[in-house]
Amino acid sequence: MTQIIDGKKISKEIKDELKEKVSALAAEGIEKCLAVIQVGADPASSVYVNNKKKACEYIGIRSLAYELPAETTEEELLELIRELNGRADVDGMIVQLPLPAQINEERVLLAIDPAKDVDGFHPMSVGNLSIGRPGFVSCTPAGIIQLLKRSGIEISGKECVVIGRSNIVGKPMGMLLLRENGTVTICHSRTKDLRQVCKRADILVVAIGKPLFIDETYVKEGAVVIDVGIHRDENNKLCGDVDFERVAPHCSAITPVPGGVGPMTIAMLMSNCVFGPQ
Ligand code: NAD
Repeated sequence: MTQIIDGKKISKEIKDELKEKVSALAAEGIEKCLAVIQVGADPASSVYVNNKKKACEYIGIRSLAYELPAETTEEELLELIRELNGRADVDGMIVQLPLPAQINEERVLLAIDPAKDVDGFHPMSVGNLSIGRPGFVSCTPAGIIQLLKRSGIEISGKECVVIGRSNIVGKPMGMLLLRENGTVTICHSRTKDLRQVCKRADILVVAIGKPLFIDETYVKEGAVVIDVGIHRDENNKLCGDVDFERVAPHCSAITPVPGGVGPMTIAMLMSNCVFGPQ
């Protein structure tokens, strides 16, 4: 029978563990604090930011919300980041992306102190991951490792294929699977014969950004399939990059959309804030 990996349940477990940890820290007089910066009022960003605030509240992390107007200049945002970098009471900060056109995203991410980079997007965090030093790890791929481990799925020695090479999902996913001793292949838009490469995978992570792209012809019988994609179909229903109905019967385990990878991202952001660089 195919195991449906329950990201909702696992993310709740993680948040409950964090809640306990935060209350133990509070008993020692230590408080954790996350600063969340949003520039402009993009509706999707507002939903994400709100969910992050709610998760902080649940766990007992103090959150500082900065809702800046859309016309904020790059210098004004950098000034706020510098101030937060210098504040001893702030453990982590995130700048919700995308940013308005007048602000250079790269300069902003570079300005965040790597010791507070809980999103794991700073080049220092990425570099630490690639050379095996402790550092903050991008939350979505970190969440996928937790999904696998907490579902009893062994990574060591497995053929792991990642589709997608983005800086926030595909590349860090490859590095993390490697850190867990998987044998890793990263595929992208120029990969020749994607289907054949995917068919090798014991663990297939799909972060391609195309609805229902992966069907059963890409999947080896008994593989584990992790679907990172989030889309709305023509009926406004959420779906992933994987055609769940067609693929699930061929897998040993699979994540659904919604309720798979999605809920893990915020749980890992909270974990980064509580535990610091790992
Ligand atoms: P992206 O668009 O930056 O990257 C997509 C990658 O897929 C690229 O590297 C590209 O080379 C590759 N690709 C595109 N077409 C391909 C093809 N035909 N064959 C092989 N490779 C191909 O996307 P991203 O930011 O990595 O996100 C991927 C998906 O995951 C999106 O649907 C996004 O919404 C979702 N996502 C979900 C979460 C979450 O929390 N669950 C977080 C981040 C992203």
